[in-house]
Amino acid sequence: MEEVVIEAYGKINLALDVLYPRDDGYHEIDTIMQQIDLKDTLILRNIDEDKVIIESNCKDIPLDETNLVYKAWEKIVKEANLKRGIHITIHKNIPVAAGLAGGSTNAAAVLKGLNILWDLNLSQKRLMEIGMEIGADVPFCILGGTAHAKGIGEKLTRIKSFSNKLILLANIGKEVSTADVYDRLDLQNRQDRIPIDKLVEYIEEDMVIELSQNIANVMESVVIEDYPVIAEIKEHMMRHGALGSLMSGSGPTVFGIFDDEEKLLRCKEFLERKVEKVFLAKTI
Ligand code: ATP
Repeated sequence: MEEVVIEAYGKINLALDVLYPRDDGYHEIDTIMQQIDLKDTLILRNIDEDKVIIESNCKDIPLDETNLVYKAWEKIVKEANLKRGIHITIHKNIPVAAGLAGGSTNAAAVLKGLNILWDLNLSQKRLMEIGMEIGADVPFCILGGTAHAKGIGEKLTRIKSFSNKLILLANIGKEVSTADVYDRLDLQNRQDRIPIDKLVEYIEEDMVIELSQNIANVMESVVIEDYPVIAEIKEHMMRHGALGSLMSGSGPTVFGIFDDEEKLLRCKEFLERKVEKVFLAKTI
């Protein structure tokens, strides 16, 4: 086999709570992650030289060793004790630094893709362990579907899939630094925890309305301080008939859950006049 084409799906957080900072510098989180069909496409092609060449249609991502796909290649050649290069084309649709795991899903795609292209026979579990060394969201991007994540995001429990739900995504075209949002969270004076276990139950029971009405993200208020337009987008989504609306991850992308395609399309048309990027998606 000379090349392999891999789809790299994005994610939204149906709920995101940050519990406390850990001694290792990471934060302990409690979150529900949901894969969506907004995707990048990666083509991995064998080359003769022992190096990585990265190409992309997107000007906002690095093409050097700081790209997460480069790190994925590095981890795989180390794991399999190989000296082998690769040409990686990243066709990017997922907005960058947007709370949709764009970089992590590309790294996951390269781990999975090289495993196939080079016949390595690494298990999904091993790929997820390797992925963890690249970034906290990478194991989920390998697992996919719907999952309850704890730890720094690596302790994953698959839950009944919340698939085929209509999602509208609105992105204001600003990059948000996840590290900066963590720094600004006021975890000392938290009143309530987000009832993640209850939300997991709603998913398991397919109680879409109850779930949508209770989705919550502890990072949202911090990012709204910088970009009040996020609160406005949420209001627009709700006024147009979304069952619920929330900022995903560390933002700034906002998503709405709809059960009516007409309402969703009207909302899309409305938001396209106000917001830089608007996407339709479905949960996987
Ligand atoms: P998460 O939801 O996992 O926090 P995110 O969607 O907020 O992630 P990314 O799109 O992963 O953020 O981008 C974060 C940073 O990673 C950006 O500054 C970007 O330049 C860098 N990066 C490195 N490689 C990639 C890649 N292949 N795709 C996107 N971003 C990448």
